[in-house]
Amino acid sequence: MTEYDVVIIGGGPGGYNAAIRAGQLGLTVACVEKRATLGGTCLNVGCIPSKALLHASELYEMARKDFAGLGIEVSPTLNLSAMMAQKDASVSQLTKGIEFLFKKNKVDWIKGAGRIAGPGKVEVTDVDGAVTPLAAKNIVIATGSEPAGLPGVTVDRERIVDSTGALALPGVPKHLVVIGAGVIGLELGSVWRRLGAEVTVVEFLDRITPGVDAETAKTFQRALAKQGVNFKLGCKVTGAVVGKNGVELTFEPVAGGPAETIDADYVLLCIGRRPYTDGLGLESVGVQPDRRGFIQTDHFRTSAPGVWAIGDVTLGPMLAHKAEDEAVACIELIAGRAGHVNYDVIPSVIYTYPEVATVGKTEEELKAAGVAYKVGKFPFTANSRAKVNHEAEGFVKVLADATTDRVLGVHMVGPDVGELIGEYCVAMEFAAASEDVARTCHPHPTRSEALRQAAMGVEGWTMQA
Ligand code: FAD
Ligand code: NAD
Repeated sequence: MTEYDVVIIGGGPGGYNAAIRAGQLGLTVACVEKRATLGGTCLNVGCIPSKALLHASELYEMARKDFAGLGIEVSPTLNLSAMMAQKDASVSQLTKGIEFLFKKNKVDWIKGAGRIAGPGKVEVTDVDGAVTPLAAKNIVIATGSEPAGLPGVTVDRERIVDSTGALALPGVPKHLVVIGAGVIGLELGSVWRRLGAEVTVVEFLDRITPGVDAETAKTFQRALAKQGVNFKLGCKVTGAVVGKNGVELTFEPVAGGPAETIDADYVLLCIGRRPYTDGLGLESVGVQPDRRGFIQTDHFRTSAPGVWAIGDVTLGPMLAHKAEDEAVACIELIAGRAGHVNYDVIPSVIYTYPEVATVGKTEEELKAAGVAYKVGKFPFTANSRAKVNHEAEGFVKVLADATTDRVLGVHMVGPDVGELIGEYCVAMEFAAASEDVARTCHPHPTRSEALRQAAMGVEGWTMQA
C-alpha cells in the first residue's frame, strides 16, 4: 500500500491548491478525484464556464445595443453552438492546466471516489469498481458542495435544470424562470436574457442577493430591472408541473395571498448549495457533520486527529478563492508552518453588468454590531472614464471606523468593479485607513479614481464631479 504524507479527497480549488502547495513544500501527496477532469465545480461547471458565457453574452449585447452609439454599425447574429464551444474549450484548457501542475509538483492524481476507511486510511474505487487502498499521515477533505433541492420542484435536467444544466441549454429559452435571486440566478439569468430570453426571477425574500449591503443590492436590482429582468420578490414556489414544451410553475406570496401560475420553457433552480459528503466514510473516523451537513473545523482540523477539511464542505462563503486560501493555510499548518486565512477580507463579486463587488462589513452588519462608522460614496456618473465609456451606472461606497478611520467594508456596483475590488483587499489586509487610499495617487482617467474619490468622501473632500 502506498503511504503519503497527505491524501486529499476532491480536486476542486480547495483540493488542487492543497495538493500543489503540498508538492511545493516537499510532502508526498495524492489527490483523489472522481470526476473525469480536475478543477472541481469551479473549473468544470461553475466559475469558469459561467464567466465564459457572461463575457461572450455581454459582448453580444453590446454589439447589438451599444456599438451604434459609439459610431460602429454592426448586425450581429448569435451562433449559440460556437459560443458554447469556446466556453468548453476554455474549461478543457484550464482543467488540463491543473493536470500539468500536478505533474510539475509531483502530485499523484488517483482517479475514483475516495472513502475514508478509518484513521490514516483512504480507499479509492475507480469507474470499473477496482479498489485502491492508500495510507495517509494526513487526510484533507475537500469534497465541495452540490445544488440544494426544493420539494415540489424536481430537477429533471430537461426542462427544470440546476446551474450545470443552465450552462448548456440547447437553445435560447423564450421564457426562463429562475428560482432564487442569488448569485447563480442573476449571473445565469443575465446570460440568457442577453441572448434573447425573457427572464423572471422568483425570490423568497423581499430583496435580492441576501448578504450583500442593502443599498448596493437595491441599486443592482434597479439596474437589472431596467435591462428587462422581471422580479417576483417575497414569493414562494409551491409546485412545478412539467409538460411537453415547458413547465407550469405555481408560487404564492410569502406574506399570504392568492397563488399565481407562470409558464416557462425552462426553469433554473438555484436556491443555494449544500456541502457534499456522500459516501465519504466520515463515521469511520467519528466525524459528525453539523445539522446542515457542514464539517466543523478549528483551523481546518476536524474532530478526528489527522483529518482536515477545507472549502465549500466547511462553513463560510462558498467561494473558490476562500477554498484556495484555506487550502494553502491548511497544508502550511500540516507542514509545521504558520498557515492563516483572514476571513475579514474575503471579497465577493457578481459578474453581471453592472458588476457587484464587496469586501468586509456591510452597513447592516456594522449597525447590528454597534460600530460607529463613516461613509464615503462616489457615483460612477462623476467618473470621467466611466462617462466616456458610457458605463456610468453605480457607485463605490467605503465604510470606515469613525474613530480610527480603518476601512471596514467596501461595496461597489458598477462597470468592472470585480477587477477593482482587489485594491481595497490589499488596503484592508494592510489595515489601511480610508485616508491612506484617499492620499494614494491613482491614474487618470480610470475607473479606479472612483475608489480613491469614495475614500476622500469619508472626510468630505471628494473633488471630481
Ligand atoms: P468543489 O469545487 O466542489 O470540488 C470538490 C471536488 O471533489 C469535485 O470535483 C468532486 O467531484 C470531488 N469529490 C467529491 N466527493 C469525492 C469523493 N468522495 N471522492 C473523490 N472526489 C470527490 N466561486 C467563485 O469564487 N467565483 C465564481 O465566479 C463562482 N462561480 C460559480 C458559478 C457556479 C455556476 C457555481 C455552481 C459555483 C460558482 N462558484 C464561484 C463557487 C465555486 O465553484 C466553489 O466555491 C468552489 O468550487 C469550491 O471549491 P471546493 O474545492 O471546496 O469544492
Ligand atoms: P445564493 O445563496 O447566492 O442565493 C440563493 C437565493 O435563493 C437567495 O436569494 C435565497 O433567498 C433564495 N431562496 C432560497 N430558498 C428559496 C425558495 N424556496 N424560493 C425562492 N428563493 C429561495 O445561492 P446560489 O445562487 O444557488 O449560489 C450558490 C453558491 O455558489 C453561493 O453561495 C455563491 O457563493 C456561489 N457562487 C458564487 C459566484 C460568484 O462568486 N460570482 C457565482 C455563482 C455561485
